[in-house]
Amino acid sequence: MTDAPTLTYDRDTSIVARLRAGFDSGRTRDLAWRQAQLDGMRRMLIEQEQTLLDALRSDLRKHPVESWMTEIGSVLGEIRHARKNLRRWAAPRRVHTALMAMPGRSRILPEPLGVVLNISAWNYPLQEGLVPMVGALAAGNCVLLKPSELGPASARALGELLPRYLDPDCVGVYQGGPDETGALLKERFDHILYTGGGHVGRIVARAAAEHLTPVTLELGGKSPAIVHRNTNIALTARRIAWGKWQNAGQICISPDYVLVHEAVRDDLVAALKTEIAAMYGPDPQASESYGRIVNARHFDRLTGYLDGQTILHGGQHDRDELFIAPTLLDAPDPTAPVMQEEIFGPLLPVLSYSDPQEAMRFVTARDKPLALYLFSNDTTFTDAMLGGISAGQVCVNDTLMFMACPALPFGGVGASGTGNYSGKFGFDTFSHLKPVLRRFWAFDISLRYAPYTARKGRLLRMAGR
Ligand code: NAD
Repeated sequence: MTDAPTLTYDRDTSIVARLRAGFDSGRTRDLAWRQAQLDGMRRMLIEQEQTLLDALRSDLRKHPVESWMTEIGSVLGEIRHARKNLRRWAAPRRVHTALMAMPGRSRILPEPLGVVLNISAWNYPLQEGLVPMVGALAAGNCVLLKPSELGPASARALGELLPRYLDPDCVGVYQGGPDETGALLKERFDHILYTGGGHVGRIVARAAAEHLTPVTLELGGKSPAIVHRNTNIALTARRIAWGKWQNAGQICISPDYVLVHEAVRDDLVAALKTEIAAMYGPDPQASESYGRIVNARHFDRLTGYLDGQTILHGGQHDRDELFIAPTLLDAPDPTAPVMQEEIFGPLLPVLSYSDPQEAMRFVTARDKPLALYLFSNDTTFTDAMLGGISAGQVCVNDTLMFMACPALPFGGVGASGTGNYSGKFGFDTFSHLKPVLRRFWAFDISLRYAPYTARKGRLLRMAGR
């Protein structure tokens, strides 16, 4: 925002060679090194809390309490979980040995991949930048973070702080926009994790393909909240409002639109208005708890969505302050841009349905969402929706809260992304799970060796059926 510091862009990609030398030194394989990195990150978050909160305030006018809860606190939770489980995740994993391979012992040895590139977005710079790093460092990799240039204060803070608290030969931060990232993507990495929109996701995947580098793509999409008639309307509205309007709706997993049963549509709209007033007061522009749109381009995109729409609530905006009020839209036409594109802002279309099948068809006719929210006391309804709709992750009777559970993987499906991270899933994403079969010398069954005979064939079939 106004007092955002300018960012110095990196032109020199030799940092990749430095990190590769760090990896080749072998020290990242040591569990003590990995633990030290996680502890360093934890110390950074605690000692530099104010610097980080100030940066988030400067970029997005996030309230410090919101920033702590959704950024610093959630990374600390991820670190705690990894610290507690690291030894177990990194240990050889014993698996069953098939009869044909007996006598022997089968194990999976997790091994680090090498140098991981993490290209992150601007909306949750700490969470998107650091949570994947926890998994990558726990797995024994070197990591290069490329924060988004659209959050310059946070990007600069991470660039200054990470090398101070973590091993600078193995952890680096590279600053830049599309051009610099394009240059970086010419380098070979061992894994690339990208968080952002699908258009750039394709650019990243194409660049990775040149080196046959595996990618994890954390993309977006239109995540619906489906509210059935038998639900606690007041709490449903409060939880939708919390998940929709924090960070002014700039959340990849915020409820993009609401599909509500027609019998409770008016009650839900009234309850949402009550919650907006309770959380942000009569004038959200004056509320310290309400954020701002990241830049004028996104502001113009969002206010453009209002053209021709019926506004049920909110709609006020101020370009000088990049402010757009929490806004409810009445049943936009499905062909309108606001229903075609991911909103990624504080506008919430409210559409109604009469038959749950109709609601399900509405969602499944579109790209698979990153998140699905179901509100109902009726498990027949929620089970039917869970069975019929594919989505990156689901929360029943709340929004966003799966982010507070490091034991759950986080990721998209189809157009909303590929692969996942968090907890053990992050550890595994950034590991090669190396299968090792150790055969014993005893009992060398001759069945598999030539010369092949009809008897050997019969016995093999008997054993293999
Ligand atoms: P963004 O503009 O910050 O871009 C993301 C990253 O891509 C940045 O680091 C940027 O520098 C880089 N980039 C931009 N253009 C590039 C190019 N031409 N070549 C190489 N790199 C380039 O973020 P955004 O795309 O505006 O983010 C919003 C989107 O991200 C939404 O769709 C949202 O749903 C999605 N998102 C997903 C997640 C998730 O975890 N799944 C999290 C946050 C945001």
